[in-house]
Amino acid sequence: MLKLIDVSVKYGSFKALHSINLEIHAGELVVLLGANGAGKSTIFRTISGLLKPTNGQVQFMGQSIGGWSPNRIVKSGIAQCPEGRKLFPEMSVLKNLVLGGYIHRKDKSAIARSLEHVFDLFPVLYDKKEQPAGSLSGGQQQMVAIARALMARPKLLLLDEPSVGLAPLVVEQMFLTIEKINRDGTGVLLAEQNAFAALQIAHRGYIIENGHLVLEGTSETLRDNEEVRRAYIGA
Ligand code: ATP
Repeated sequence: MLKLIDVSVKYGSFKALHSINLEIHAGELVVLLGANGAGKSTIFRTISGLLKPTNGQVQFMGQSIGGWSPNRIVKSGIAQCPEGRKLFPEMSVLKNLVLGGYIHRKDKSAIARSLEHVFDLFPVLYDKKEQPAGSLSGGQQQMVAIARALMARPKLLLLDEPSVGLAPLVVEQMFLTIEKINRDGTGVLLAEQNAFAALQIAHRGYIIENGHLVLEGTSETLRDNEEVRRAYIGA
């Protein structure tokens, strides 16, 4: 479904990604593990069209999307839930969600169906739909951010560190929901520092260090790998 072929990205003269080769098949849940500054968000911004690769190709559903605008990329079926949520805190939960359905704005029934879908997934958001998004708990705000991305009805959902700053119990619930979103048919690329939890739900994973993909494998293989355990799981 998504393929990065030899993708390199620079910020000015600083090379943040070095010849990245990464693939996500339809229906897969793939985790991207790496320390702060390794390049996870840069990969996400490149896939969603916020950054242009200086080299290589980004392909989605057989098309090269490397030079496409972010809006066109969302329309093609990729939605991103960015690091740090980036909600509009003064606006109601409902308005934040409707913004996520922007590409369907001319089709009121599509928006209504998407709202029904996300409220089904996150019932607490229905109860709080008129409240300012910023008044919700951290976990609930993260739900709004994921739900907002789902409003575009993506084939592939990019989740950039959704567990940051959340209590362990909330993280556990969040990961169960991500697993459910994937089981319902949406491909997921999940960037995480919480390697243990992420490898429990992912099919496969990649490890990124200093802009280089250094290892890839099934979740089981990565969980059993000595170096991965030492560096990312702490066991
Ligand atoms: P984090 O979890 O801290 O967000 P990350 O793995 O997502 O880490 P990136 O944000 O992709 O890492 O950063 C990769 C590298 O690119 C880092 O060295 C970072 O300092 C650098 N970088 C990121 N954004 C910019 C920018 N706008 N301009 C210059 N350098 C940047």
